[in-house]
Amino acid sequence: MNHMKLEFDALSENEPFARNAVAAFCLSLDPSLDELSDVKTAVSEAVTNCIVHAYRGSRGTVVIECETEGDAVHIRISDSGRGISDLKKALEPFYTETEDEERSGMGFTIMQTFMSGFSVRSEKGKGTTVSMSKYFGRNKSSEVANVE
Ligand code: ATP
Ligand code: MG
Repeated sequence: MNHMKLEFDALSENEPFARNAVAAFCLSLDPSLDELSDVKTAVSEAVTNCIVHAYRGSRGTVVIECETEGDAVHIRISDSGRGISDLKKALEPFYTETEDEERSGMGFTIMQTFMSGFSVRSEKGKGTTVSMSKYFGRNKSSEVANVE
């Protein structure tokens, strides 16, 4: 098992740093480029949500914790922002609260699609935590199984 914890200001310039730091942490698990890119995309969506929605431009902190377990990495991304009042609605594809044309409302859907496991906990006024897991090497072992 290996573990790391990262805390940074909820600023958009920290998003590339966060996504690449998590990717670098995953390298010891020998991920494929596709797997690594999946993790980066999911982390980017979760961190962007903290920056854009949780604090709405005001100052705040994002905490990322990562843990390896066998061939898997478990990632927890938390903010102490305003929380999500209707989680069911927020998780629906294409739901977005913003009028911003840049937002398509697909962040949570992308996280679920690109990762092996996904869950979110949120408390109004207290913050939101997204937990995601990725199992590496699934394709490799199935290739071996096919040959046999
Ligand atoms: P996109 O991710 O496509 O740019 P989006 O961020 O609106 O658009 P999702 O990432 O799926 O879409 O999030 C859906 C909604 O959930 C957001 O519009 C927002 O209302 C709420 N939300 C998501 N993350 C947070 C968070 N960390 N804190 C508060 N609200 C959040
Ligand atoms: Mg989003």
